[in-house]
Amino acid sequence: MGQQKTVWDNPADVIRHLAPEHPVMVFAPTVLQDRARQFIQGFPGLVTYAVKSNPDEAVIQNLVTAGIQGFDVASPFEIDLIGRMAPHAARHYHNPVRGRSEIAHAVSVGITSWSVDSKSELDKLFEQVPAKVGDKGVEISPRFKLPVLGAAYDFGSKFGASPELAAELLAEVARRGYVPSLTFHPGTQCTDPIAWESYIRVAKDICDMAGVAAVRLNVGGGFPSHRVIGVEPDLASIFQEIGDTATEMFGDNAPALVCEPGRGLCADAYALITRIKGIRDGGDVFLNDGVYGGLAELPIVGNIDRIEVLSPEGTPRTGETHGRVIFGPTCDSVDRLPGELGLPDDAVEGDYVIFHGAGAYSTVTNTRFNGFGAVTNATVMQLS
Ligand SMILES: *Cc1c(COP(=O)(O)O)cnc(C)c1O
Repeated sequence: MGQQKTVWDNPADVIRHLAPEHPVMVFAPTVLQDRARQFIQGFPGLVTYAVKSNPDEAVIQNLVTAGIQGFDVASPFEIDLIGRMAPHAARHYHNPVRGRSEIAHAVSVGITSWSVDSKSELDKLFEQVPAKVGDKGVEISPRFKLPVLGAAYDFGSKFGASPELAAELLAEVARRGYVPSLTFHPGTQCTDPIAWESYIRVAKDICDMAGVAAVRLNVGGGFPSHRVIGVEPDLASIFQEIGDTATEMFGDNAPALVCEPGRGLCADAYALITRIKGIRDGGDVFLNDGVYGGLAELPIVGNIDRIEVLSPEGTPRTGETHGRVIFGPTCDSVDRLPGELGLPDDAVEGDYVIFHGAGAYSTVTNTRFNGFGAVTNATVMQLS
């Protein structure tokens, strides 16, 4: 998916000039940079980017340009991508389960921050990872979990130790001479700051149980993007709640805070242009992209309803909106968006449906199932 050489004005400009037959991921670098600066200025600690949400090189370049100095990486590929594109940035290897060859690769390229959520994996790290690189201490952060609160999607079913186990791991990390820190991920698309608050309170309990003062506390990703009309993400309130809770719980001994947003940084810098292939007799709409392509996440996280329908001339359809069943292009009946989406009544075959806020977990999870998925990228000045 190479970037187009031309920078277009906005998605309508792309539609007018390219009349794209295949889906187009439209990227607005200025929106990404603005969001990155909002995090850097507002978050009370270090902002790192979770590469998995969108590893496009243009995203990494623009984040570095905007001042992002750290990355959450989960695989040798992501480690090497950031090593090449941002050689001075911190790389936190926060996939709690790794193969021995993956650990060896990370050690060989100088990774000094790791997360862990079980004794078996901690023992693997002790065997392969030195406690110091030069005079820099190597950080190991037990990852803990709580029952889900306020997230659209629960990561806790796969990763995270109970608070009791996290305390044991933290004590062992300190005893073995590594830098003891803690990390959690509250779940993705958390619109309510309460998700972070309860985790930070438990982080203090874990430190007390372990008798260890955590050096850093990584509050994960989970920062929301703008998916639903009328539900604007309120990042400032979340940042405030995180800072206030850490101060309340830890006082002057508060661990340095780190966050690792994926979606919250990249999603709103993209729009996905899809096209209406057909409208069946009953009114069901078939698009040229669906859940095996750029809309993979919608059945899990919920619909994005920030959509616009444009004619091939780039003119907005403004008819009254009614709920429609939306199918993707493949012959699999799973390839359907959840429930119904409101489309204007004057939408016709050949029109374009633009999904705003589609930049996370979309370009990177696109498949070629059934021969579809020929997504291209375009760069725009603005998204509207
Ligand atoms: C996926 C992931 C993130 C990013 O999550 P978002 O919900 O996209 O912000 C952050 N940290 C870890 C460890 C992850 O696995």
